[in-house]
Amino acid sequence: MAHRVTLIPGDGIGPELTEATRRVLEATGAEFDWDVHHAGADVMDEHGGNPLPEHVLESIRETGVALKGPITTPIGGGFRSVNVTLRKVLDLFGQVRPCKSYAGVRSRFDDVDLVVVRENTEDLYAGIEYEEGTDDAQELIEWIERHGGKLRHPDAGISIKPLSVTGSRRIVEFAFEYARRNGRRKVTAVHKANIMKFTDGLYLRVAREVAEENTDVQFDDRIVDNMCMQLVQRPEEYDVLVCPNLYGDIVSDVCAGMIGGLGMAPGANFGEGTVIFEPTHGSAPKYAGQNKVNPMAQMLSGMMMLRYLEETEAAERLENAIAEVIREGKSLTYDMKPRRDDPTAVGTSEVADAIIEKLGVRVA
Ligand code: NAD
Repeated sequence: MAHRVTLIPGDGIGPELTEATRRVLEATGAEFDWDVHHAGADVMDEHGGNPLPEHVLESIRETGVALKGPITTPIGGGFRSVNVTLRKVLDLFGQVRPCKSYAGVRSRFDDVDLVVVRENTEDLYAGIEYEEGTDDAQELIEWIERHGGKLRHPDAGISIKPLSVTGSRRIVEFAFEYARRNGRRKVTAVHKANIMKFTDGLYLRVAREVAEENTDVQFDDRIVDNMCMQLVQRPEEYDVLVCPNLYGDIVSDVCAGMIGGLGMAPGANFGEGTVIFEPTHGSAPKYAGQNKVNPMAQMLSGMMMLRYLEETEAAERLENAIAEVIREGKSLTYDMKPRRDDPTAVGTSEVADAIIEKLGVRVA
């Protein structure tokens, strides 16, 4: 039976990447019934200024699975990021970013196989902030001082960092479940519990509780600064890293850098029964419509989607075809060549053609 999937092409480089990805996904033999919906600045005029029309959300709620291209957030444009709004409205609390080395990718590291699981809704990114000099900030500072706290300088802006038992438990449980489903051996909780006892300390305590309920998967924990050092010294000792929002944001970029950068970093955002697969990178507007950028991160996000849909064999064949094209080194975009102005670089759609050929399908 065909999988019904919401397809959001996005804007900037999004449409060409999602088209290349749709082609390789279909070439695996897996069948899809795409429900295509557009979101972003390009469609907002048609929808009374709303860049995320209700029909997009309705489709994702109905299908439960979306493949999404990147969407631009205009600076100072007066609307909130569609990407952030999607995560909030659908409560996509768990971000997953696998970071795996493929032979032939230029990188300082050659044997990385990590998955960063990042909590997506809490922490310093919850958006509870008080601007320096405002009455609210002043009131908060006075409240803090009445309750035994002391700010070194009163001219401070203040961001609040909520980490809850509920939020910590669901992300750590999710990480264990992800590890189990995907045959991973270990979960490492990343924190700074030695300094922030009531937030990161709570997170670590909950993580340890969850670990005791999931003894079939190994567990350990690392302080975030030490984690970063160990990642670049001994990445092979780690497997699934489960992080609160801020550390997850930083650590996932460290890991993306270790496997060749943004063009190679896929991702997914999970909620209860809803998941959106999308690359880590943005819409790179300056390259839009040029058939130039690297579709691998979007395609690897599609490969993750195949696994989620239990199309395991199709996922493996696609991953092998991508790995083979990278290893051969011929049909690659400029960013994967030794020099960025390499005349042998091919375009986005030619990368898709090469992968489809490796899948054993003739490209017309
Ligand atoms: P970006 O990731 O779009 O681009 C930064 C640079 O990375 C590009 O100029 C390009 O050199 C390189 N790059 C990115 N993707 C590439 C690819 N597939 N192949 C080759 N090179 C690639 O980051 P940005 O410039 O900070 O953001 C542009 C827009 O994208 C912003 O509006 C931002 O808000 C948005 N954004 C969207 C998402 C999303 O949709 N989930 C994520 C991040 C950023």
